[in-house]
Amino acid sequence: MSAAQDSSSVLSFEDARRVVEEQAAQVPASGAETVDLLSAAGRVLAEPVLADRDIPPFPRSTRDGYAVRSSDLCQLPANLEVVGEIRAGERPENIPARLEAGHAIAIMTGAPVPPEADAVVMVEHTLRHDDRVEITRAVAPGENIVPRAAEARQGHTLLERGVRLNQDGVALAASVGKARLEVHKRPRIALLTTGDEIVPVSATPGPSQIRNSNSYSLAVQVLQAGGQPILLPIAPDEPSALRDLIEEGLNSDLLLMTGGVSMGRYDLVEQVLSELGAQFFFTGARIQPGRPVVFGNCSAGALSREKPVAYFFGLPGNPVSTMVTFELFARPLIEALAGQAPGKLRFLHARLKSEIRVRTGLRRFLPALLDGEFDNSAVELVPWQGSGDIAATARANCYAVIPPDRECIPAGEWIAVLLR
Ligand code: AMP
Ligand code: MG
Repeated sequence: MSAAQDSSSVLSFEDARRVVEEQAAQVPASGAETVDLLSAAGRVLAEPVLADRDIPPFPRSTRDGYAVRSSDLCQLPANLEVVGEIRAGERPENIPARLEAGHAIAIMTGAPVPPEADAVVMVEHTLRHDDRVEITRAVAPGENIVPRAAEARQGHTLLERGVRLNQDGVALAASVGKARLEVHKRPRIALLTTGDEIVPVSATPGPSQIRNSNSYSLAVQVLQAGGQPILLPIAPDEPSALRDLIEEGLNSDLLLMTGGVSMGRYDLVEQVLSELGAQFFFTGARIQPGRPVVFGNCSAGALSREKPVAYFFGLPGNPVSTMVTFELFARPLIEALAGQAPGKLRFLHARLKSEIRVRTGLRRFLPALLDGEFDNSAVELVPWQGSGDIAATARANCYAVIPPDRECIPAGEWIAVLLR
């Protein structure tokens, strides 16, 4: 019995996702390269980023005001002598060695607080008269000061290897002087679309032909996941040409195929993979859209390759199924190949605007629109013609997630949504 007919390899969504996560934990991350700081945005760190000095390097005032000894403000208003001014970036020789009792120093946000001053009074709570200042509010010790090294000690790891760099990561790297960073190379992800009816974007389709859109949605998703997409020619529903292209695709770090994994007579992807000695982890997941999704790998034995194993996904050809199954299953593998530390799918919860009725048995990921603002955000399904409807999906900003045991979800209930 081929894997395609083996119903035991159709898994629940959770089990299928777990299988992918287990495999993702084992795949080798791609090699490293050194790039400019800005080019590292969106890439995955191959080296940890350490604090090159204490952060902050001095006790830092968080306000414009006066550095004081808090004990001088026991009686209010307090009247203190102003003995100087410290600006952000002040030269060390201008910073007094200590602050005496009864004295205050004008200080600016981001400036170093002198020794023995233990708080900063905001300028809003003071009245300046020449070289004296009247203070109308008490401060607790430590108020408006970030102590030296409170954010990180010198040598402390600020960003671990495997972190995907966003604006936070890039800012942290900048703050410790990393003008260049070691990041993982983008894994090469081969995209193979199958189907006799599929024609290239630039072709004029015949009456029953369809332009290839899946390779393009996948290429975008691959880039977002940290991979480098490689578009292979469109494969016909014919075993030997399909086999050649699959073999070519298996030479990259991961092969993503779309179409040809359903139960139709010309759905040949699993058959050809079986002939290549593939191992299937699953040949379906109880989800909608995307039920016929296939995940597996091929060992080098059957193929002439240096790599020990090559992973592949067979994603269903309906364009929305392709997008959804990529998000649910292919993304974690690409992220792992790109060196990223593993993560779980994250769902938000939102109030449902209008009732949903579905048949039980499948976990559904239905294109939906999350809108409203502040306390009124709510989600509703986008009307669609099923998993071929890219236009409807383009109007959605999330997927509403419907558990397999629910037939009816009433308006007002909180449901899980997956942002897209
Ligand atoms: P399949 O999974 O091969 O049965 O295809 C399911 C549906 O998706 C069919 O209507 C196909 O025409 C369509 N489809 C398959 N591949 C693509 C593609 N690359 N771009 C757009 N639609 C596709
Ligand atoms: Mg097909």
